Amino acid sequence: MTLPMSDLRDLYQEMILDHNRRPHNRRNLEGADRRADGYNPLCGDRISVYLKIDGDRIREATFEGKGCAISTASASMMTDAVHGKTLDEARQLFTRFHGMVTDDSATESAPTNLGKLEVFSGVSQFPARVKCATLAWHTLKAAIEDAREVVSSEEGAGDPNA
Ligand code: ZN
Repeated sequence: MTLPMSDLRDLYQEMILDHNRRPHNRRNLEGADRRADGYNPLCGDRISVYLKIDGDRIREATFEGKGCAISTASASMMTDAVHGKTLDEARQLFTRFHGMVTDDSATESAPTNLGKLEVFSGVSQFPARVKCATLAWHTLKAAIEDAREVVSSEEGAGDPNA
């Protein structure tokens, strides 16, 4: 059965709202090997990402923070997606996800193959929402690279809790 596009969009929206209502992996991670903080000043979304890393593999990924439905759902699904992945695989996921929501023509020819994460593909039509959807991923990337600074799309946006 093929779903008409409008039904598919409703389904995607329902998944995002569901993850916002019951986010996966939203908790502090005791003994985390990596942590990074992200901030999206356009919307006010704040997120901290925690990782437990064993060798080059992500054993556990969690997040804390406050934000809109899209940023929370994205963080929920991001932490699910990178669980058990190697750091390289997580970086590749970041690139593919980023390419999907920004409609980057350079990655268009490559198969997206993002599974559930494809629910965010519609975000590319709403530029103001792209930063909400990518915040968790930028913060993940900072945690992987072990950045100590708050990730932000704006200069001088410090985290008062850091
Ligand atoms: Zn937002």
